[in-house]
Amino acid sequence: MRSVRVLGCRVDAIDVAGAVARIVALARGSAPSLVVTLGTEMVVRARTDARFRDVVNRSALSLCDTIGVLFAARLWGAHIPERVAGVELIDPLCAAFARGGISIYLLGAKGDTAARAARVLCERYPTLIVAGARDGYFGPDDDARVADAIAQTGARVALLGLGSPRQELWIDAHLARAGCAVGIGIGGSFDVLAGNVERAPAAWRRANLEWLYRLLKEPQRWRRQLALPYFVMLTLRERLFARKTLEES
Ligand code: UDP
Repeated sequence: MRSVRVLGCRVDAIDVAGAVARIVALARGSAPSLVVTLGTEMVVRARTDARFRDVVNRSALSLCDTIGVLFAARLWGAHIPERVAGVELIDPLCAAFARGGISIYLLGAKGDTAARAARVLCERYPTLIVAGARDGYFGPDDDARVADAIAQTGARVALLGLGSPRQELWIDAHLARAGCAVGIGIGGSFDVLAGNVERAPAAWRRANLEWLYRLLKEPQRWRRQLALPYFVMLTLRERLFARKTLEES
């Protein structure tokens, strides 16, 4: 599998089918593996947060979650046919887990959202084994207790919707104790599955305008979304500078 670096973060050149196959293989292994769905804001954060950047770059799989990261990875010559967004990965993954008897635990979001998301997934994939689910509102003092509770369920894969960077840092620090082979950060996907949040209509997604739809629906996100133009500016600068350096050498 080829990879490129986007502003210091590794992005793996793999499509949805390839990512599903790789995650199923990891789930059958024993080493605790982190799967990152890398978004634009995460790359911007990683520039100044060395610990987070290190966790991303040590991950077993770093997937291209947003159109911005896809655009940047292609600028660096990666052949990535499509975005591998966490929210779009969940369905083919759960289909594969259901076929393979791989159990999952859902950790994250408010109240009973993860439990409701689990019910939706079980309706879609009747043989899927959901070992457990709980909300993502607990403090650092409870990390070990939550990891032990997951371990007791015997889940092979943990889906974490705690928001970034918490979900990736949590997986890095606690996945081994939770006894899972794979931990995947999936952001706000439980809210989408449970119907708390609506995804952009297909036409907006095809036009690569999902970010604009989210901004219109949740205007309070504008500050977070400033990461996008900043990311584009930094990427173009990095690419231009690299070309100049190559031409001069
Ligand atoms: N969340 C959580 N615990 C927290 C903070 C956030 O479980 O302490 C959840 C939040 O309820 C939401 C998800 O993390 O379901 C993050 O959603 P966000 O929209 O930030 O993620 P994105 O999809 O943008 O990565």
